[in-house]
Amino acid sequence: KGTLFLVATPIGNLEDMTYRGIRVLNEVDIIAAEDTRHAMKLLNHFEIKKPLVSYYEHNKRTRGDFLINKLLEGKNIALISDAGTPGISDPGEDIVKLCIENEIKVTMVPGAVAAIVGLVLSGISSKSFVYEGFLSMNKKERREKISSLKEEVRTIVLYEAPHKLLKTLNDLYEALGNRKIALARELTKKYEEVLRLNLKDAILKYENEAPKGEFVIVIEGADRDEILKEKINKWQELSLEEHYQ
Ligand code: SAM
Repeated sequence: KGTLFLVATPIGNLEDMTYRGIRVLNEVDIIAAEDTRHAMKLLNHFEIKKPLVSYYEHNKRTRGDFLINKLLEGKNIALISDAGTPGISDPGEDIVKLCIENEIKVTMVPGAVAAIVGLVLSGISSKSFVYEGFLSMNKKERREKISSLKEEVRTIVLYEAPHKLLKTLNDLYEALGNRKIALARELTKKYEEVLRLNLKDAILKYENEAPKGEFVIVIEGADRDEILKEKINKWQELSLEEHYQ
């Protein structure tokens, strides 16, 4: 049987490609990529010539079976995504499960994860954090998720595209109040920027200018004492109501 290598690629700066990543891409039989045209840019830059197949959200079932068969035949395969680490808000999770089911060796060539870069640069506690990726655009799922974050005491890390940023900031402000946040964009690139502010100021800023680039949003966790105080208040209100009924 062959091996599946999940190879992390840069999130914006080609110099972040690892030596091992380049070696593995040069040694495997097939490279599976989220977007083959996008992958070609990286592969051309490093002069890597390999059979390339696509593996993305909408063909991951059939293509997953194809890749598993190739692995069972003894071929080694590398999976790359458009940026960063495959499997983190990118295709990868399903093929890892399939490999485990088929007792195929799966390993990783680690590298950049935008969430981790944003979290560490945010200055907000990284002792304990929760990664939520992109918020759903389905209204109900989105509302439930954001409301579940209200009592989250760990630092929260989200991803967001520029055209949805303002809506997300507004929804977060409505549910969480004026939390301290960091907005990290263009990470590892020339115009890397990390804004450390609160939700209200972030909304004001992006009401007046169009957000540019992809964002990592880092939100300070809820204050444990505040949650406790709110719970006591609610409980007192309830018991008063019951008392007077
Ligand atoms: N697998 C990737 C990783 O390991 O970070 C994430 C892929 S996800 C489809 C793309 C999102 O990651 C973007 O919308 C943005 O939120 C975040 N992202 C990727 N590159 C970034 C960068 N250079 N600066 C800020 N955020 C970035």
